[in-house]
Amino acid sequence: MATRRRVTREKPLSEYKRKRDFSKTGEPSGGAVKRGSKRKLRFVVQKHAASHLHFDFRLELDGVMKSWAVPKGPSYDPSVRRLAMEVEDHPIEYNTFEGTIPKGQYGGGTVMLWDRGTYEAEDGGEEALREGYDRGDLKFVLHGERLQGGWVLVRIRRGEGERRQWLLIKHRDEMATSKFDVVAEVETSVKSGRTMEEIATRRGRVWQSNRAVESDEPSPTRRKKPASASQKKRAAPRRRRPTRSTT
Ligand code: MN
Repeated sequence: MATRRRVTREKPLSEYKRKRDFSKTGEPSGGAVKRGSKRKLRFVVQKHAASHLHFDFRLELDGVMKSWAVPKGPSYDPSVRRLAMEVEDHPIEYNTFEGTIPKGQYGGGTVMLWDRGTYEAEDGGEEALREGYDRGDLKFVLHGERLQGGWVLVRIRRGEGERRQWLLIKHRDEMATSKFDVVAEVETSVKSGRTMEEIATRRGRVWQSNRAVESDEPSPTRRKKPASASQKKRAAPRRRRPTRSTT
């Protein structure tokens, strides 16, 4: 319920909107927040080469994307704890974003859609997610293309009063492994197959405003890659279902 959440005093997305000049960046301005849908909750991970490279980890909850900046990105190794700094909620429309934020704007730099999919509470429904988020112990299962299985975000004391800091940790389950460095192995967009460099150098992809969000799917020829290479780059360590075609 919205009434029990600590962010209810501010309007949803107010911090997100305050930080951005939507006459200069083509990032979504964030429309009406829709709650109460019964469909599956989404998650995305965006690789973001801003002043410091990081991965933006976003979980849908109550009509917004709860967001954390994870400098080193996620790890499948349960013994690895990755720092995750909570940042402002983002609009759900942000989930399809890939491209370049103009220099000088908030978060200026290249953004790659690195993973996407649905997620659910490890145990229970949305109320369990809400409680976990409020309590600082959020357990969930990801159904992405690169990230799968159980994970936890644990809030730590440091950073209290300013930006809240969490740790992102893989649960010990059948997907866990210390033998696959997903951040090092997977260097292409889950959406377009492009590398950061290809996204950055592609002209006309800067998210200027006053332009409708264009399709940033590359032309069919750009997407073709040797099957073996693209399979390797796309796959999670052990998959339980086939990847969809990249072409
Ligand atoms: Mn970011």
